[in-house]
Amino acid sequence: MIEVERQAALDAIGAEVAACTNCRLHVTRTNAVPGEGTAATEVVFVGEGPGFNEDRQGKPFVGQAGAKLDALLASVLWSRQEVFITNVVKCRPPENRDPEPAEITACAPFLTRQLEVLDPALVVTLGRFSMARFYPGARIGQVHGTFRLADPESGAPNALTYAMYHPAAALHQGSLNETLFRDMQGVPGALLEARKQRSAAPEPAPGPVEARVDPAAGAEPSPTSDAPIQAVGELDPEGAESDPTDQLPLF
Ligand code: SF4
Repeated sequence: MIEVERQAALDAIGAEVAACTNCRLHVTRTNAVPGEGTAATEVVFVGEGPGFNEDRQGKPFVGQAGAKLDALLASVLWSRQEVFITNVVKCRPPENRDPEPAEITACAPFLTRQLEVLDPALVVTLGRFSMARFYPGARIGQVHGTFRLADPESGAPNALTYAMYHPAAALHQGSLNETLFRDMQGVPGALLEARKQRSAAPEPAPGPVEARVDPAAGAEPSPTSDAPIQAVGELDPEGAESDPTDQLPLF
């Protein structure tokens, strides 16, 4: 599918999202938030759900969490214009509560279709609800800053997924700010590894692959261009740790 066809397909999904009444979140939304970005990207960022500002504007990550995401992208010399940004649920949960399982299930086909259209090399999960789709059974305190093959059921069977805390987590818990920026430094390396795996193996390999990227492994690639493939780091040496965002609101 060429870029113009991808954009048309994304626009069509967005129009369906805007009219969707498949779960009760449609009752309280101001605007649905399908997502935005370039159809030419190799990298998709998936958050949890729209907040107050996103609901008002119909755009993802435009409040304080959005400013944090912009800063994270800028730290690796990327911008939101070079990636695609969306959420697990496309309508704001009232009072910024967690999305409920039935709402996530109802909305899941939209994200699946977006991923099928974009066919990203890398999916960056922002927060535990996004992580749960691509890292079933994992705890974000254990897997943040690591990548692995996406769950084939996620909609991105040929992608690597890279787990990060939600940018809003740093707004509620300042100690996570450094963690977020450190994990972000591993994203370009994860993209390089994803390109390497896609070029070497057209079909997804069986079984999980999990690793942590060495941020010093090499030059940072653009998410919309083909940079040379470079080596990445070793398996995650960390053991279990608590999940400091388990009780945090989304925004
Ligand atoms: S959250 Fe998703 S499933 Fe629910 S109404 Fe919005 S678009 Fe439809």
